[in-house]
Amino acid sequence: MSTTDAGVETALPLECPVIDGRRQIQRLPARASSVGGIPVARLLPLRERRLIGAWCFLDHIGPARFAPGTAGLRVGPHPHIGLQTFTWMIAGEILHRDSLGYEQLIRPGQVNLMTAGDGVSHTEETPPHAGTSLHAVQLWIALPRAERAVEPRFDHYPELPRFSLGAFNITLLTGRCCGHEAPALQYSPLLGLELSWSGPGRAELPLRQDFEYGLLPLEGMLSIDETSFVPGELAYLGMRRESLVLQSDTGGRALLVGGTPLGEEVVIWWNFVAGERTTIEHARRDWDAGSTRFGTVSGYDGPRLEAPEIPWLSAPVRGH
Ligand code: MN
Repeated sequence: MSTTDAGVETALPLECPVIDGRRQIQRLPARASSVGGIPVARLLPLRERRLIGAWCFLDHIGPARFAPGTAGLRVGPHPHIGLQTFTWMIAGEILHRDSLGYEQLIRPGQVNLMTAGDGVSHTEETPPHAGTSLHAVQLWIALPRAERAVEPRFDHYPELPRFSLGAFNITLLTGRCCGHEAPALQYSPLLGLELSWSGPGRAELPLRQDFEYGLLPLEGMLSIDETSFVPGELAYLGMRRESLVLQSDTGGRALLVGGTPLGEEVVIWWNFVAGERTTIEHARRDWDAGSTRFGTVSGYDGPRLEAPEIPWLSAPVRGH
C-alpha cells in the first residue's frame, strides 16, 4: 500500500499506566483514510503510538464491497525503502507485482511479505476476475538499522500454522506461539497472529514479557482483561505481561501484533522508513528521477504514484 501521511513523531513509554494495582490498556482510535479507492482504518502510526515492536504501520482494509465490473483496489507503482510490507488476506484477492519480477495473487488465509531493503517498487490491485469483496490487513515492519539495506526480496506464504486455544482458532502469521512457528522471514523478534471465533468463549493466551503488544478487533467485539474493544480501536497492552485473558460473547476476529521494542529512532514518511531524514530525501529524489534503484514494475495498467512534498523541506510559514 501507499500512504500520503506526513509522518507522526511522538515517543511514549512502553508501559501502560497502573491504576489501583491494575494494568490499564490504552484505547487508540483509528484514523479514517483510503488506499487505492478502498476505505481503510489506520491504526499505526498514530500520534499516541508510532511503533509496536518493529510494526510501524497498520491499515485495516475494508471490509469493503464494490460493484461487479468496477476496479476495486488499485495502487499504482510506488517505492519502498527500509521496511517489509506484510499483507494478511481475510476475504477477496489482491494481485501483487514488483520490480523484482514477482507476480503473486494473494488469497484469504495467506501472507505476502516484501522486503524493501534499499529500494523496491510494487503495485497492488484487485485482479480482473476476483469477487466483489475485500477484507485485509496491511502492516509494515521497520527493518533494524543493521539490516536496512538488505537485498530486496519477495516471499509468499500460502500455508500457515493453525491451532485452537479454547474457543479461539489461531492462525500464526509470523513468529512463535504455543509451540508453533510461522515461516515468515523476520529481521527482529516479532509476533503476528489472527484469532477467530464463532461464539461465546474464553481463553488465556501466553505472552512474552519482553514483547510489547497491540490487539485489534477486525470483526465483532472482544474483551481483554474484562475491557471491551471493537473494530477501529487498537488496544495497546505494553510489555511485561505473562498472558492475556480474552473473552467474547459473539463471533468475531482479531489481530494480535507484538515484538521486542525496536530501540531505534525511525523516520516514517510516505512509503519510506529510515533512520534519518536525509535518507528519505535521497530516496524521494531517486524516485522522482526514475532511478534504477527502484526498478520497474511490468503489467500494471496505470501511472506510477508521485511522491508528495516533504513537509520539513517546505518553506516555513512566517508569523504575522
Ligand atoms: Mn506498498
